[in-house]
Amino acid sequence: MLISLCSDANVVYWGIRMPKHNADIAVIFEEIADLLEIQGANPFRIRAYRNAARMLSELPREVSQMLEKKEDLTDLPGIGDDLAGKIKEIVDSGHCSLLDRLQTELPPAITELLKIPGLGPKRVKSLYHDLDVQTIEQLYRAARDGRIRILPGFGEKTETNILQAIEAHANQTQRFKLAVAGQYAEALEKFLQAIPGVLTVIVAGSYRRMRETVGDLDMLVVSSVSAASQVVQRFITYEETVEILSAGTIRASIILAGGLQVDLRVVKEESYGAALHYFTGSKSHNIAIRRMAQKHGLKINEYGVFQDKTRIAGETEASVYAAVGLAYIPPELRENRGEIAAASTGQLPQLVEQTDLRGDLHAHTQATDGHHSLREMALAGKAYGFEYLAITEHSRRLTFAHGLDGARLAQQCDEIDQLNAELTGITLLKSIEVDILQDGNLDLPDSALARLDLVVGAIHSHFNLSRAKQTERILRAMHHPYFTLLAHPTGRLIQRRDPYDVDMLRIIREAKHRGCFLELNAHPERLDLLDTHCQMAKEEGVLISINSDAHSVYDFSNLRFGVGQARRGWLEKCNVLNTRPLSELRLLIHRTMS
Ligand SMILES: [Zn+2]
Ligand SMILES: [Zn+2]
Repeated sequence: MLISLCSDANVVYWGIRMPKHNADIAVIFEEIADLLEIQGANPFRIRAYRNAARMLSELPREVSQMLEKKEDLTDLPGIGDDLAGKIKEIVDSGHCSLLDRLQTELPPAITELLKIPGLGPKRVKSLYHDLDVQTIEQLYRAARDGRIRILPGFGEKTETNILQAIEAHANQTQRFKLAVAGQYAEALEKFLQAIPGVLTVIVAGSYRRMRETVGDLDMLVVSSVSAASQVVQRFITYEETVEILSAGTIRASIILAGGLQVDLRVVKEESYGAALHYFTGSKSHNIAIRRMAQKHGLKINEYGVFQDKTRIAGETEASVYAAVGLAYIPPELRENRGEIAAASTGQLPQLVEQTDLRGDLHAHTQATDGHHSLREMALAGKAYGFEYLAITEHSRRLTFAHGLDGARLAQQCDEIDQLNAELTGITLLKSIEVDILQDGNLDLPDSALARLDLVVGAIHSHFNLSRAKQTERILRAMHHPYFTLLAHPTGRLIQRRDPYDVDMLRIIREAKHRGCFLELNAHPERLDLLDTHCQMAKEEGVLISINSDAHSVYDFSNLRFGVGQARRGWLEKCNVLNTRPLSELRLLIHRTMS
């Protein structure tokens, strides 16, 4: 059975459905920002929409529920009266009149052009004005016909790049950031759980493996046999469905309003483990396991493990692994990157857990671009179970973030000393997220850094240096006697900015040599260090700090994404710096001038 309600998700999205999730509102704000940018609006106004979109896509609570409870949205980071009003308008009406207006002023598909790498709003604007290019198709034809190279500021090379980028773009399927997919997944889980006859609901696939982006959601439901078709029927009428791709008796696929595809599979209890293993993947892990089974004269499929026609396992995942002589392999490791060999020799890592974290070494307050006060951050950290929290404001070079100079840093240190004397159960550590300048020097003098418990260094500019220069820049920064921790070590923003080009092995070895550490930034936009680099650091004996980079009291919950990434990187509790109690941490981060 194939029912197509509507092929264009946006039509239904704007027409009928109320945006319910933060991620939906974030999409609207991003679109407003894009359109404003093409119109050449005030950069601060554009930034406000972008920041709000980012905040919303990571906020652990749904703003629609906050509105229901009559909570004040202006308590949220970056949300003033104007944006609060827009959120309310969107939740109440499903529309944003500003977006409606902008969409009448510019051609509807024009923001698509921004998805082509190398095309910023300025270029899109001139393509539209000078060549009347409004769609990717028109862009392709203009490039192919050599009409773009003659535009001011473009040239032949840009034209070739645009052609290549369009071809690459066509081959790309849309993926969702883990945190965004999570908002849809959690709501769906609740919905399915409430259907009579449902025993268990779990999201399998790359979501369960904690991949940084997710292509679709694989929902697995265990139900009584009699309820199975009822579960499918209810699933396809989920209120966020805009298209039903297929619907049978035990499976169905839908597209949600936000564009995310969800596949449902209903299984019997006896097949749960085999099905969960099958739908969790990865593909290459599953193929390797099936090959092992063949060698044992067994057959593994989504229904169980079979010897001839007899089922010998499949009720739990552990039973599937045991059937082929392996220990249970946690989902995050299932990438066929050595986990099977490790499981067969009893050498699987004891992966770090979120409850192992004792503190956080990267957080901002309202002194710079954070939203909450020192005290609020400290109390939230304490409530989160931290023993310590490092306050790491931006340094003076980041003027847009109101970065600290020496005097303001000294003032904050005084405030931290006072607060530490007063608070119990949590210690604030004096720190800074100091800019690493283009030449590898730090943005503040030694005299300003001397009083700090640790110095976190980060790159926020000149991302395009050559590999040699970028690597040298970081090595020089680490050479600085006060340098402790390298924040977001590759600078990438998922789906928005590629990592800068560095020799990570050299950096890790230098960190080892200098007694420095690397951060795994848990911000869902960053998840930086990459999982493979985590493994590299572990092998080289360099500890990783899993940090939230919190800009508000809500952001500590992002640590779960960082822990997921760390687990994908095979990290154990002992490989993670901030699993140490404060007394031990102090010894590790203490560096002196020498
Ligand atoms: Zn930073
Ligand atoms: Zn930061």
